[in-house]
Amino acid sequence: MAKVVVIGAGFGGLSLGVRLQARGYQVTLLDKQAQPGGHALRLEMGGYRFDMGPSLITAPYLLEELFQLAGRSLSAYLELIPLDPYYRIYFWDGSYLDYTGDAERMKAQLAQLSPGEEKAYDGFMAHAKAFYQAVIEEGLGARPFGWKELWSFLPAALRLGALRSAYSLAAQYFRDERLRFTFSFHPLFIGGDPFLAPAVYQMIPYLEKVGGVWYAKGGMHAVAQALARLFQELGGTLLLSTEAQEIVVRNGQAVAVRTSAGEIPADIVVSNADYLHTVTRLYPEPYRLSRLRERLVQYSMSAFLVYLGLKRTYPERLPHHTIALGPRYRGLVKDIFRRKVLAPDFSLYLHAPTRTEPAMAPPGGESLYILSPVPNLQASVNWEKEKYPYAERILTFLEEKVGLEGLRQQVAVQAFYTPLDFAEQRNCTYGAAWGPEPLLWQTAVLRPSNRSRRLPNVFLVGAGTHPGAGVPGVLLSACATEKALTEAYPLSLATAVTSGRS
Ligand SMILES: Cc1cc2nc3c(=O)[nH]c(=O)nc-3n(C[C@H](O)[C@H](O)[C@H](O)COP(=O)(O)OP(=O)(O)OC[C@H]3O[C@@H](n4cnc5c(N)ncnc54)[C@H](O)[C@@H]3O)c2cc1C
Repeated sequence: MAKVVVIGAGFGGLSLGVRLQARGYQVTLLDKQAQPGGHALRLEMGGYRFDMGPSLITAPYLLEELFQLAGRSLSAYLELIPLDPYYRIYFWDGSYLDYTGDAERMKAQLAQLSPGEEKAYDGFMAHAKAFYQAVIEEGLGARPFGWKELWSFLPAALRLGALRSAYSLAAQYFRDERLRFTFSFHPLFIGGDPFLAPAVYQMIPYLEKVGGVWYAKGGMHAVAQALARLFQELGGTLLLSTEAQEIVVRNGQAVAVRTSAGEIPADIVVSNADYLHTVTRLYPEPYRLSRLRERLVQYSMSAFLVYLGLKRTYPERLPHHTIALGPRYRGLVKDIFRRKVLAPDFSLYLHAPTRTEPAMAPPGGESLYILSPVPNLQASVNWEKEKYPYAERILTFLEEKVGLEGLRQQVAVQAFYTPLDFAEQRNCTYGAAWGPEPLLWQTAVLRPSNRSRRLPNVFLVGAGTHPGAGVPGVLLSACATEKALTEAYPLSLATAVTSGRS
């Protein structure tokens, strides 16, 4: 049987593992972490449970598809709960919007915020739908993106204005800066700068609208655990606490992966690890990316995370998901992505899973996760020194601007996660949690491809490759990588290679 070794058990590695195992390949999935899930790890402190990274589930059909492939039903593994509103957005002036997929409720709120602008909602969503149709329904996100795909998409892309910035598309429809934020911030979910990310990423608002925003009982980590269980039930081997050190290459072909636990032979190797980590550390010489080309890859932002176990809840101020905005939008994004400086102000994303599942905290308590987008480690910030004062500023902002009164007195346990942790614990280059930035010149055919250009039997999967970051993007990347891999090495051929060698 063809042996595939996948480095990294993030959503990319897990979902590709399930796909290949279901097709009859023999997959070994290894990860340096002690838990599967990549960014979707779980932190437990004093009875409080936190998702450490992703928390918002969209496009659940992509998960359902994985279980169906294996002849199983998702509901036997996971309980998904729809959220409404999807999130609340607190604007800089104290006003707020409960963002939902319900067009009428959205329009009523837009009319209150900026009378007359509710009329633009349907037009904007129709535009977002057109992007969604190209990427999702016509399958551009689910197959390797080559020049053929580019030529077929280009006429529609030009007609729809897919190559302009996400913000400029929002500005075409809305005048009020609060609404421009509401309908342009989505690229931030996938590590993109709304003022530079191509407007095609504006398909996300439609993807949310049509598929909903969901919570998995037990949190996002429960989704990773379910996929890991499914993978193992299909006969896959999961090796945790095992770090890949190098892909072993002989005669231009990968033949094994050298790990902290010894060498694992392979007919095909897939990396779900960070892109530059893969091509500059795991690839051996002379296959590594040159220093010059390495410097040309633009990496996304990072995040500073605070996990607070609270003795009380704040249901009146915090629904399940909340975005709390500071005074600046364009300037702050510029500080994070382009100037790469730690700004004095910030905007936050908050996750309060206890709103939907009280058991995520001890009785009456709240497990509150706070994410502040920050520049990656190309900025000169001493996070060891900076994390305490930065967290203090966040707490002050939450008490004074978001109305979480007496927050400091309610803290039972707390932990931080900084860009340094992303770099050291998850091998994220520059501590950039979303991989290569989704810029026009790092999108589609210009993004690292799902099959290595240097080593024919090496493939890439996950946020760093096509179509990009975010759990749905990463699940789609597994479809694209599966296509590339199975076309290049159909089971019969891959098996012949194995038996020829043994
Ligand atoms: C804080 C945060 C919040 C987010 N929120 C959301 C959200 O709400 N919704 C959403 O859809 N997306 C969200 N995202 C994005 C989403 O989580 C990621 O894009 C996605 O999880 C990436 O999955 P992946 O499989 O590509 O890689 P990863 O999750 O990065 O997994 C890669 C794995 O490879 C392992 N690895 C690396 N090097 C090696 C090595 N040498 N040997 C062995 N193992 C190695 C790492 O330990 C890691 O486990 C968020 C991301 C972050 C960071």
